[in-house]
Amino acid sequence: MWFFTEEQKALQKVCRDFATKEIAPHAEKHDNDETFNIEAFKKMGELGLLGITADPEYGGAGLGATEATIVMEEFGKACAGLTLSYLAHSMLCVNNISTNASEEQKAKWLPKLCTGEHIGCMGMSEPGYGSDAVGMQTKAVLKGDHYEITGNKMWITNAQYADVIYLYARTGENKKDLSTFILDKNTEGYSVSKEIHKMGMRGSPTGELSFDKAKVPVSGRVGEEGDSISHMMKNLDLERITISGISLGIAQACLDQCIKYVGERKQFGKNLANFQMIQKMVSEMDAETAMMRHFLYSTCREYDLGVQDAAQAARVKLQLPKMVTKIALDAIQIHGGYGYSREFPLERYMRDNKLMEIGAGTNEVMIMIIAKNILNEALGK
Ligand SMILES: Cc1cc2nc3c(=O)[nH]c(=O)nc-3n(C[C@H](O)[C@H](O)[C@H](O)COP(=O)(O)OP(=O)(O)OC[C@H]3O[C@@H](n4cnc5c(N)ncnc54)[C@H](O)[C@@H]3O)c2cc1C
Repeated sequence: MWFFTEEQKALQKVCRDFATKEIAPHAEKHDNDETFNIEAFKKMGELGLLGITADPEYGGAGLGATEATIVMEEFGKACAGLTLSYLAHSMLCVNNISTNASEEQKAKWLPKLCTGEHIGCMGMSEPGYGSDAVGMQTKAVLKGDHYEITGNKMWITNAQYADVIYLYARTGENKKDLSTFILDKNTEGYSVSKEIHKMGMRGSPTGELSFDKAKVPVSGRVGEEGDSISHMMKNLDLERITISGISLGIAQACLDQCIKYVGERKQFGKNLANFQMIQKMVSEMDAETAMMRHFLYSTCREYDLGVQDAAQAARVKLQLPKMVTKIALDAIQIHGGYGYSREFPLERYMRDNKLMEIGAGTNEVMIMIIAKNILNEALGK
């Protein structure tokens, strides 16, 4: 990007080199075996990336959305599954703590999360409440100096590996009576009750969390009771912008692979690159990837300049994942039978990218956010 600073370009290079050496060579195996590349994850801590947006006072790098998205793009190009786990740790857990928690809580939780000694996750979704997350039914009941938390959290990225859980639970009867807690995996009454198997993002562990009167001290509550909506709103835009970086990385990986293949594969005595229908697919893939890159990074820049715009984050999160699913399907088409086989990573790219149309709010939820924003007046609201 033309406006990347020298530091951002240097970060991009570090991430690209690391992804080439430590992530990409293992991506296929982790996808096949449904395992987590914990070695590479821990090394991200050594590179200072696990607390990329966290305050340097607590071990973070103190950087912004642009830098976090650079990491997502570079790692996403190599292994989207591992990158989803990186996102859950660094954006959903660490950034949330960094943005919303007290100084004591930051000092307690952030240093080990930033080095990678601890792995984090975030529990919002429940078996019966996904898009309607605010309807959640996990309850936290105050009992003297602690809360008793009961309920289940579904689809939680990093569940099986998480030492630290950033959790939302209901503390009252009104829909918005939601409170935020931080707890560790040794909390009495807490367990990981189920491992979830998926079509894509198989290099990222996903599980269900169970709370059976889990005992969390009052000091584990973030802010006041009822603060969760404001906590969620502060983080969701960043989550939606940065997760779109994973889609951008997948688009670039598809494009790189297609350019290579059409220059090698011959049919009717000519390289595929000579056929206009192939040229159309590759050219459109290139144009769309370039357009997405500008759209995404200019949104990052706005975010870093302090612009709070939920509709813009939703636009990015709606358009990139959707476009990249189409790009991945075209990349498979360009490779013919080889694209459909597991000899090439294209089918993995397609399976992985599909998650981006669901996680962090589905396409339909993004449409609802945009519609609410632009049609409020027309709808008389
Ligand atoms: C791999 C993976 C990792 C995840 N990681 C995490 C995590 O770390 N932490 C966490 O808290 N959650 C996580 N999630 C959960 C994710 O955020 C939810 O899956 C998502 O919000 C959708 O909720 P749902 O799956 O319950 O679908 P539902 O909400 O049941 O939606 C089903 C369908 O109905 C549509 N729909 C729903 N409401 C409306 C409406 N009003 N109008 C039109 N259409 C509608 C949806 O768009 C969707 O197409 C993860 C999910 C996956 C698959």
